[in-house]
Amino acid sequence: MSETNDAKERARLGVTEAAEELIDVSQRIHANPELAFQENQAAALLSERLEARGFQVERNACGLETAFRASWGEGPVTIAYLCEYDALPEIGHACGHNLIATAGLGAAYGLKAALSPSQVRLLVVGTPAEEGGGGKVIMLERGAFEGVDVALMAHPSPADIDMPPMYGVQGLEAEYRGRAAHASFAPEMGINALDGLITAYQAIAQLRQHIRRDARIHGIITYGGSAPNVVPDRAVGHFLVRALRPSYLDELTEKVQRCFEAGAAASGATLEVRPTERLYLPMRNNTSLAGAYRANAESVGRTFVDIKIDSTGSSDMGNISQAMPSIHPMFGVGAMAFNHTPAFTSVCATDAAHASMVQVAQAMAMTGVDVVLDPDLLQRAKDEFASGGGYP
Ligand SMILES: [Zn+2]
Ligand SMILES: [Zn+2]
Repeated sequence: MSETNDAKERARLGVTEAAEELIDVSQRIHANPELAFQENQAAALLSERLEARGFQVERNACGLETAFRASWGEGPVTIAYLCEYDALPEIGHACGHNLIATAGLGAAYGLKAALSPSQVRLLVVGTPAEEGGGGKVIMLERGAFEGVDVALMAHPSPADIDMPPMYGVQGLEAEYRGRAAHASFAPEMGINALDGLITAYQAIAQLRQHIRRDARIHGIITYGGSAPNVVPDRAVGHFLVRALRPSYLDELTEKVQRCFEAGAAASGATLEVRPTERLYLPMRNNTSLAGAYRANAESVGRTFVDIKIDSTGSSDMGNISQAMPSIHPMFGVGAMAFNHTPAFTSVCATDAAHASMVQVAQAMAMTGVDVVLDPDLLQRAKDEFASGGGYP
């Protein structure tokens, strides 16, 4: 046990020693927000720092210009820390991905300081485009996570939550095509595509009252016609279907498809339904790993809230969590602000947010030590994963 404790202390100090650098990197990424798949400077900066610290860095990983994969060590246990670094249009780093990137970077520094290269294979995976584009989904498909035993990342939020539920989400675009006609002179000649979409919208609104509480459906009309005196020959809607269980996500997607078809049948318009985004799967929080993370985080000063959360977002980390034991804890940034607001953008560059990020990096590094030096933990994490657990 004392071998583990000594290594954890080295991990903690390894992060402390790098704190100034981590904060500087976070501030640079925050000051230069880059959108999904355009995070060139963030990816270059992180790659450069990892190389300077002795990691082998593969840039343009998986054929993605702003992805990277850094590795160190060739031990029997492979731990991956994930870095996100994309921003949102107009409101910059309103999801605090500058802090995710540096928490992952710091965790890697800490774990490297704690162990020898014969004990661990340590990966830092730079995953672009979380806010749309599904960088992790692409990297998973292209083999970036092959051989990984556990995947860890942590996300800023208003408070520390060890196992936040995250919806899987399926985006769907429904396009109706009818026939244009003069809306007054010859309406009987027209086929009203907008009517088809409105019928579908209403059917979805009715469905919504009878779905499970661990699901959401919401959408907008993105095109509804060109002029009020022309029967619309085209109408387009964009909908998101979300659920906390993959099977229910499939079931709901099927029901929404039937609502779309109802609109087509009623109006006589033709229908085409397309997925708009890569499918983000629901998050499976590995409770063994999350428990270890929480104990480590509490030991460096984090305080968790234990309220039941039934309203969440979605992340492509969900797909990773369906492929290997994973955690995606939330950490508070020292102020009551909510993700995806300009207030959160400001909060994510404060001293308080950076102090949180450093503690979280320490906790993730220490959790990496637990995974490597406590074979029982890794086995429990794997058994739990194999048994299909991890949903709320
Ligand atoms: Zn985010
Ligand atoms: Zn976000």
